Amino acid sequence: MTADVCIVGGGFSGIATALSLAERGYTVVVLEAQRIGWGASGRNGGQMIAGISGEHRIESQLGEAGRKLLADIRYLGNDIIESRVERHQIRCDLKRGWMEVAARPRHMQALRAYVDERLAAGDGDDLELVEPADMERVIGSRLYHGAMVDRRSGHLHPLNLCLGEARAAAGLGVEIFEESPVTDVVGGDRPFAATAQGRVEAASIVLAGMMEPKFETGPLNGLLFPTGSYIVATEPLPERVAREINPQDLAVADSNVVLDYFRLSADRRLLFGGRCNYSNRDPRDIRATLRPRLTQVFPQLEGVALDYAWGGKIDIVLTRVPAIGRREPNVYYMQGYCGHGVNATHIAGQIVADAIGGTMEKLDLFEKIRHVRLPVGQFLGNQMLALGMLYYRLRDLL
Ligand SMILES: Cc1cc2nc3c(=O)[nH]c(=O)nc-3n(C[C@H](O)[C@H](O)[C@H](O)COP(=O)(O)OP(=O)(O)OC[C@H]3O[C@@H](n4cnc5c(N)ncnc54)[C@H](O)[C@@H]3O)c2cc1C
Repeated sequence: MTADVCIVGGGFSGIATALSLAERGYTVVVLEAQRIGWGASGRNGGQMIAGISGEHRIESQLGEAGRKLLADIRYLGNDIIESRVERHQIRCDLKRGWMEVAARPRHMQALRAYVDERLAAGDGDDLELVEPADMERVIGSRLYHGAMVDRRSGHLHPLNLCLGEARAAAGLGVEIFEESPVTDVVGGDRPFAATAQGRVEAASIVLAGMMEPKFETGPLNGLLFPTGSYIVATEPLPERVAREINPQDLAVADSNVVLDYFRLSADRRLLFGGRCNYSNRDPRDIRATLRPRLTQVFPQLEGVALDYAWGGKIDIVLTRVPAIGRREPNVYYMQGYCGHGVNATHIAGQIVADAIGGTMEKLDLFEKIRHVRLPVGQFLGNQMLALGMLYYRLRDLL
């Protein structure tokens, strides 16, 4: 079959791009190896956080152009999500309000500096600092040394968002094929993506999200190192307890590099996520590993039932800047959001859709980023990354 654009991957990257393209009148085919949202997009913590990872690196490498880029895109993903949720009536429990809590006193200084910087740049109106003595107003935990609330970020049910956007895309004519693993992607004069059943010929191909190493050639070689992140969901909490631990129903992430993140679901479960180990292997018992962290943050939840536990892979690039660009002139890629992908995938989808339409400005900037590569193969690279994470965890604890 033929289309203007063939997208490989049916997570946020693929579906957000498909929707951006379909809104502009392109014919689009999405090929997904499993089910829509099966990867990180359907498993994540649902924290919709402004900006993208690696902002300091973007500023230091691109200077003024980088600062302008960051200001332009900071809330772009959030805005796209909010407008799609409204336009397509997607039921994904979207709520505004996200908070970074200072795990160490020195982290509060960094939050203050960040808010000052944003206020000086004229876009800090949605940020609010919470002083250590005032923390009870925002969280029922004594563990933290202050916080920053971002009222324009928030949280949502990620799988329902992904499925809702896929439905909206299908409504605009996007053809979505599940259980269709792509086995080959060829650029050149007659680009196509092949599956066991056939091929899609398209003017442009988009590798949307983390792919198997065989597709990670050229600029993607040695770039991406997946690492595990895990979440537990408690039993539904009594309203009084939910209000006590999270009185403003905020999504919360702490300021450590190897961080804890949590929020309440619409049915008042605490979804508590974090990293379980530094071996880069899935833990044998996610509940047993995450429970001590959960009760350290909220001792009042000692003994609470953990009804669900799951994990997924976070796509880490060493520079922390998402990798958005072209493997060949008509084969695009987008990946490496470093655990910060709800907003960033939607930004990337728009940037790639713009580029396919001939507006290259933002894609060009991302392509200029000099990434760090590990020319050591996936296994060794993952072990090195695990060691690096352990280093950061120890540093967090100091
Ligand atoms: C446990 C966890 C918690 C997280 N929490 C947050 C959070 O709270 N906030 C946040 O912003 N980010 C979070 N993230 C990160 C975020 O989920 C990801 O950055 C984002 O979902 C990436 O979307 P994606 O579409 O690029 O990748 P994915 O969702 O992984 O989608 C890629 C898709 O491509 C498909 N695919 C792969 N190879 C092929 C092939 N050969 N042919 C066809 N299809 C293929 C896969 O099946 C998959 O469905 C979290 C991640 C994890 C794992």
